[in-house]
Amino acid sequence: MTVTSADPTAAERSFHHRVLVIGGGNAGLSVAGRLRRMGVADIAVIEPREKHLYKPLFSHIAGGRARGSEAVRDQGAVTPKGVTWIKDAVSTIDPESSSVRLTSGSAVTYDHLIVCPGIQKNWDGIPGLEAAMASPHGASNYELDLAVKASSLLRNLRRGTVVFSQPPGPASCAGAGQKPMYLACDYWRAVGVLPDIRVIMVVPDDTVFGIPEIDRELNRKIAEYGIELRTRSEILDVDAENRVVRIGRADAEPESIPYDALLVEPPQSAPGWLKTSGLAAVGDEGGFVEVDPEMLRHPRYSNVWALGDAAATRNSKSGGALRKQTVVVAKNLGDVLHGRIPSTKYDGYSVCPFTVSRSTVVFAEFDDHYALKPTIPFWKGLARERRLTWVFDRHILPWVYWNMILKGLA
Ligand SMILES: Cc1cc2nc3c(=O)[nH]c(=O)nc-3n(C[C@H](O)[C@H](O)[C@H](O)COP(=O)(O)OP(=O)(O)OC[C@H]3O[C@@H](n4cnc5c(N)ncnc54)[C@H](O)[C@@H]3O)c2cc1C
Repeated sequence: MTVTSADPTAAERSFHHRVLVIGGGNAGLSVAGRLRRMGVADIAVIEPREKHLYKPLFSHIAGGRARGSEAVRDQGAVTPKGVTWIKDAVSTIDPESSSVRLTSGSAVTYDHLIVCPGIQKNWDGIPGLEAAMASPHGASNYELDLAVKASSLLRNLRRGTVVFSQPPGPASCAGAGQKPMYLACDYWRAVGVLPDIRVIMVVPDDTVFGIPEIDRELNRKIAEYGIELRTRSEILDVDAENRVVRIGRADAEPESIPYDALLVEPPQSAPGWLKTSGLAAVGDEGGFVEVDPEMLRHPRYSNVWALGDAAATRNSKSGGALRKQTVVVAKNLGDVLHGRIPSTKYDGYSVCPFTVSRSTVVFAEFDDHYALKPTIPFWKGLARERRLTWVFDRHILPWVYWNMILKGLA
């Protein structure tokens, strides 16, 4: 087991930690930073990756509005000071004995466990998808290298058919699969080739998003760009060699579409190893960690907490949701560590900023019942297409993420 630390003086080769965090992504680092600022000592984060990725930027990269390097930082540089980084991966959790087993073979015990290893992308979940992504005509904004590839694939296209898709089931920022599409359409329109490109968007639900006010804005852009929207649909399989994607539709026969570019948001699920940890609700095959949806504490193991994409909360999974969830977990756990009764509640807030052109965003903020939940109370104007929200999403938020969110300051 490699043990390292952002703060070398805090590095210790201990196999027990007061607070153990699984996953040093958005959730793990933010909550560790908050707890550290509250004065909690002996926090360790288990994270196998050496590079930390800011995923919301992947959509801008795929759509040609950001460079790949802007989304990457060294994990050691972003791990909050005073927090120990265990560079390893968890293979199993034993909540009965308050311990986790690492892939290196070591075991680490804890007083409190925060589970946030994110979601698993199942590229093998659709026959032919992996081959399609390995071919010159397949790309995605869900992996950094594929987002960089998407950027040149979309930029160089001058005619043909492009299929974008969003899968059924759980997803991280589910609507993100649409974002590079609007950016590309705006670009193709600017260079005068949009009429020569057939654009198809495949979505699983009855409407493009599911909230009438947001659907209205997105449908207006869909009509403006001439996009063909396939609702209640999903990709069944891909013939990468012949470049044909087969779409299953709830209300029609399956449709085979020859494509020149295929941009796919992959099927997603709880990580396989997490499903067998005993932390999911009894009978829940989804495998995400069961928590009280307001307190974010496990109902059966009171020293286990979960947040982010790996938690079985009702909200739409997003980094925006984490800005609220990290406060809840840090305050509640802080209360418990000080012998107080925890009382901070998560309100189900989430957000999906749709980049509907290369300079505007539809900033969809909503709760876990899919009702609009604007940050500025009683003003739903941010959910309309605006330049202001583009500036916020493209320029301000990345700075806030690296300099405040990961440090537990926002
Ligand atoms: C393309 C895309 C666009 C998005 N756009 C937006 C957006 O515009 N706005 C927004 O709010 N949200 C957006 N999101 C969602 C947001 O990025 C996620 O909700 C957020 O990153 C979830 O944080 P997390 O910490 O739960 O998971 P992650 O950030 O994925 O972090 C999980 C960490 O756990 C680690 N890990 C995995 N397995 C193990 C293991 N076995 N042991 C230890 N560690 C492990 C991983 O390496 C990773 O570092 C987007 C997501 C994607 C993919």
